[in-house]
Amino acid sequence: MIISMKKGATQQEIEHVCQRIREFGYKVHSIQGEERVVIGAVGIGDVTACLESLEAAPGVESAVRISSPYKFVSREFKPESSRIRVNGAEIGGNEFVVMAGPCSVENERQILTAAEGVARAGAKILRGGAFKPRTSPYDFQGLELEGLKLLAKARQATGLAIVTEIMSDGDVELVAEYADILQVGARNMQNFALLKTLGKCPRPILLKRGMSSTVKELLMSAEYITAHGNANIILCERGIRTFETATRNTCDITAVAVLHELTHLPVILDPSHATGKRSLVPALARAAVAIGSDGLIVEVHPEPEKALSDGAQSLSIPEFAALMADLNLYLELWKASRPAAAFA
Ligand code: PEP
Ligand code: MN
Repeated sequence: MIISMKKGATQQEIEHVCQRIREFGYKVHSIQGEERVVIGAVGIGDVTACLESLEAAPGVESAVRISSPYKFVSREFKPESSRIRVNGAEIGGNEFVVMAGPCSVENERQILTAAEGVARAGAKILRGGAFKPRTSPYDFQGLELEGLKLLAKARQATGLAIVTEIMSDGDVELVAEYADILQVGARNMQNFALLKTLGKCPRPILLKRGMSSTVKELLMSAEYITAHGNANIILCERGIRTFETATRNTCDITAVAVLHELTHLPVILDPSHATGKRSLVPALARAAVAIGSDGLIVEVHPEPEKALSDGAQSLSIPEFAALMADLNLYLELWKASRPAAAFA
């Protein structure tokens, strides 16, 4: 059950509702939205009696039963699309937001050159990993705090917002100090300690799909973050593991449309990790636009052949600029086909 409180409901009214929920044998999850408090009641109990009682309680706007296992993030709960505002950009509305930058922050010159290049081409958000989840312990692990400071410098120089990966719940406060969006990578999609801590984080979260995770598991991970208090989540399809070896991963492009049906959260696509190959990135980026993705996250490096990670899938700055120019044509149709709900 989800109980939406009226705007301006008092603390006493909220506490009374929570107490009634517990009396019916349910556990309480409450989240403070921008405008109103929303309370989730989870567990086993007499749903009908509980709903009836709560509907009549003072301060309650509505009490509804949600049948899907993910509640707060489901479209059943919130039919209109959510928009996530970051530094003047709005993801999930009538703007196609592109995040771009290198896989890893490597040095000042590299990140500043990348930031200026992607900003000039029309990206709104700069990506760059400071904490890197690498398969081998002998590979470049990221500049950590030094990387975060360089990202902050790049933001100051260009005005771009910053998205960077968070790998451990112990680093949330530190990364949130520097980043505008915290990225949960594929490898950590089910790091539940991290997801719970991110529920308390005041920044939006970019949640990437695990490489062997189903759409439902992705939504359950988003539900973790929301159930712990943070409803500002952007989902990302980045390809999944299959028997196919021609590409690094297999992009489940349909997941974008499936997610748009199942959740109100914005969905973006990562054509870089989905393909692993620079030459395939533009085609998949066009497909993302056609299927109604809310944006992209693309790896771009000033000198891809010298990149310390993911060089093979990184676009050069001119290649990225060409991609952005090419996408403009497709974005006319994207705008015309935006579901009315997104403009509500
Ligand atoms: C990345 O964005 O550089 C990254 C590691 O992505 P993923 O978690 O999707 O593999
Ligand atoms: Mn990468």
